[in-house]
Amino acid sequence: MSIKLEKVVETFYQNLEAGKITGRKCLKCGAVEFPPVYACNSCGCWDMEWVVISGKASMHSIVLPAALSSRPEYKDLGKYAYGEVELEEGARFNAVVRGISRKNRPALLEKLPIPCRAAIYQRDGYKTVVFDLDEEE
Ligand SMILES: [Zn+2]
Repeated sequence: MSIKLEKVVETFYQNLEAGKITGRKCLKCGAVEFPPVYACNSCGCWDMEWVVISGKASMHSIVLPAALSSRPEYKDLGKYAYGEVELEEGARFNAVVRGISRKNRPALLEKLPIPCRAAIYQRDGYKTVVFDLDEEE
């Protein structure tokens, strides 16, 4: 089980290296899990396939990082916050969202949920997924 989960995580990062943000879609109930998991969280089914997610999402909460606990590996991100993000495919999780500061947070809070979009961020050594606020709306 743990070896299979490692394989899922490995494939997820290989896909990111190839520029694809992927989740796992349940073949039984159609739920899309992100970040990818080995078995469906909705129905427990193990028959899942890789799908490229659209990246479209909405942000439902904003939590600014505490100044003193600011993570050094994110220093290139610029202003960011943590938020609860829901993909249009349905998965909901906590993510890093760029472009949010102490300054614009009050105005953004009034507009929740805010459209945002997944992006691939190069950290030292590997890529990860962050979100950007959707500028068009
Ligand atoms: Zn399912």
